[in-house]
Amino acid sequence: MIPITRLPLPHDVADRLDELTAEVGSAHREERAAAARALWRRRGVREVVHPPLRRVLADMAPGHERCMYCGDSQGTDIDHFEPLAGNPLRAFDWLNHLLACSTCNSNLKRDRFPVDALGAALLIDPTTEDPFDHLLLTPSLGVYHGLTAKGRETIEVCGLNRPVLTRGRVQARRVVVMCLERWAAARAAGSEPGMREAVVTVREQPFADVCQSMLRLALNPAAERVLDVGPQVLDLLRTADLRDALLA
Ligand SMILES: [Zn+2]
Repeated sequence: MIPITRLPLPHDVADRLDELTAEVGSAHREERAAAARALWRRRGVREVVHPPLRRVLADMAPGHERCMYCGDSQGTDIDHFEPLAGNPLRAFDWLNHLLACSTCNSNLKRDRFPVDALGAALLIDPTTEDPFDHLLLTPSLGVYHGLTAKGRETIEVCGLNRPVLTRGRVQARRVVVMCLERWAAARAAGSEPGMREAVVTVREQPFADVCQSMLRLALNPAAERVLDVGPQVLDLLRTADLRDALLA
């Protein structure tokens, strides 16, 4: 998971969401979840409201519309961060919408929303907080480790260490290392297009979290050991203009 910047919705869509929230609120409290679910699935809502929501979420998502939880598969579903069943009044709350793949959304997360003793979410919302405050990724293994209770719950609920993801992250790390070496070779040859191509290849591959965690770990005093890369790659990960290009 990486931090995601939430973009504004077109005014007409935001207004429509407010109307739909009011409609859910007008139902009796015990009927609101069913009302929200029915409204969410209503043909007019699916055909008119979902597409613009999905478009803005796709613009916010890493790489080619990747899932905001796993970073691997295409984000196909509009996910309710706080499930509709638990808080129907947030069914049409833009701040509660994320883009997720069907595995993360429908098979793993579903209606799960762990909270602590005070009722605060124990699930990372990448649009409001930095996932790296809660999660440590070891790129050479592709495995996440929870730094906080919220990090540990997020790994469990979203299945962030499922084998297909850990293998994918190991592969993504290889691509990052190769692209960094190509960027350095292109720079030595004075080839701006070559440098750009290396950056774009990294930025558009799945698992944006791998490169971002490598850039962060590179600033750690124990970076060489933690990252398991040679001094040249470590130098590149610490090169300001390359870092800016990869994080832009
Ligand atoms: Zn996913």
